[in-house]
Amino acid sequence: MPARVVAIDGPAGSGKSSTARAVADALDFAHLDSGALYRAFTLAAIDHDLPLDGERIAALAGALPVRLDRTPAGYRPEIAGVDVSEAVRSPAVTARVSAVAALPAVRRVVNAMVRAAAAEHPRGVVIEGRDIGTVVFADAGLKIFLTASPEERARRRLLQENRLQDAASVAREAETLEVRDHADANRPIAPLAQAPDAIPLDTTGMGFDEQVRRIVELARKLFP
Ligand code: C5P
Repeated sequence: MPARVVAIDGPAGSGKSSTARAVADALDFAHLDSGALYRAFTLAAIDHDLPLDGERIAALAGALPVRLDRTPAGYRPEIAGVDVSEAVRSPAVTARVSAVAALPAVRRVVNAMVRAAAAEHPRGVVIEGRDIGTVVFADAGLKIFLTASPEERARRRLLQENRLQDAASVAREAETLEVRDHADANRPIAPLAQAPDAIPLDTTGMGFDEQVRRIVELARKLFP
């Protein structure tokens, strides 16, 4: 592994992606979204009508292949050479991804891909997910556990996707996020959890620049 890994874990909609990207930019590290890879496996399984069978999904992903492509901005998921960064955000993928991510065979392959990508990077990586600080890079130099209240997370998610309407839409989205968090936090393997040595950062009511600044400051101290 490279000497420098910043692990950012947390529940759905806690702002991991935008934060991790901005932190990576500030440090001149690469950004790696492990959730996007689980989503790419899920999209491949949906497109090929596969049942929830980890070995078959992993084999399909190897054959297509599903991979992480390194770009100057960071890593993006590809299926058969096609960038699927946008396609993996579909509601159909979002609805099924937790079930696919709970399959041990899928987690084995994704972990290997994430570790290989990080190992080949010459500078450092900011990796976001659910189990980066607990499992994938349990020895990461800096671990952040990002949270925000359910309503705040729902509001941000709706804003980001141009779907913010009324209080009812926020309540509905909060419930959808809650269902996914519950599944992710209660699975037997690598559940969503804060590592004992992770620094918790509750961003409810915190400006985006402020949360990025705090993480960058910590990282600069550790990785001068
Ligand atoms: O981060 P994002 O919400 O896109 O992640 C999608 C899903 O991928 C999560 O709900 C979770 O089921 C799974 N995931 C995971 N472990 C990670 C990253 C994501 O299980 N390290």
